[in-house]
Amino acid sequence: MAHRDSKFEFDRRGVLFVLSSPSGAGKSTIARKLLEVEPGMGVSVSATTRPMREGEQDGREYHFVSTEEFKARAANHEFLEWAHVFNYRYGTPRAPVKKMLAEGQDVLFDVDWQGAQQLFQLEGGDVVRVFIVPPSLTELEKRLRDRNTDSEEVIQYRMKRAERELSHWDGYDYVVVNDDLNACFEKVHTILQAEREKRSRKPGLIGFIRERQEEAVAMGLTTR
Ligand code: ADP
Ligand code: 5GP
Repeated sequence: MAHRDSKFEFDRRGVLFVLSSPSGAGKSTIARKLLEVEPGMGVSVSATTRPMREGEQDGREYHFVSTEEFKARAANHEFLEWAHVFNYRYGTPRAPVKKMLAEGQDVLFDVDWQGAQQLFQLEGGDVVRVFIVPPSLTELEKRLRDRNTDSEEVIQYRMKRAERELSHWDGYDYVVVNDDLNACFEKVHTILQAEREKRSRKPGLIGFIRERQEEAVAMGLTTR
């Protein structure tokens, strides 16, 4: 913990900022925009057993690993959380997250509802869970098609999953509809900025208040 941007910023714990959404609702787009305006934010790169998609790069979108390797790492407690998603395993490597938090960075997570649930259970109040939802399922299907990354079969599978994923809306602190992209992005960014300001994240505040109390004594305002 050493997050201090200016004279009147107090040491605070980093925020574990979780973004989830039914596939195709725009989570990756929002995450990209967030990192553009918040370059100091850390990103948790998950490990997965799913095959690499065209355009992806090992170590950037994910660490692509075999099922055997994933199982060995999980058994070795190397994941902060992990879950089965769409027939594959996905996990958040523990060490890099702990390092980023220790260095005072906020960390962005792209995990599903199971990941949000586990992170919240482990890290409690420092976790902020945001669920991005599409304005309608018709629009979701259109976005998946327009994205042009999935086969018809995969699109149908994602659409079937969407309803189930939406049912986990109550496992989040915020639910934001992604209708107009910029409006949605502004809301997500505002949530991050407000969450950073929470008193409960700022142990550094104690020293500031104590100094003001001493100042009051020096000024003769109180004899305490
Ligand atoms: P996810 O990461 O949730 O699977 P993406 O960020 O890849 O979704 O977005 C799915 C597709 O929808 C992309 O082609 C993206 O450009 C587009 N998209 C995202 N947000 C909006 C929006 N508000 N309006 C229209 N299209 C959007
Ligand atoms: P995709 O394969 O489309 O990149 O991701 C599929 C789903 O897995 C998404 O909902 C994504 O948020 C989720 N996911 C990615 N990494 C993790 C992780 O480390 N843990 C969990 N629980 N879910 C993840």
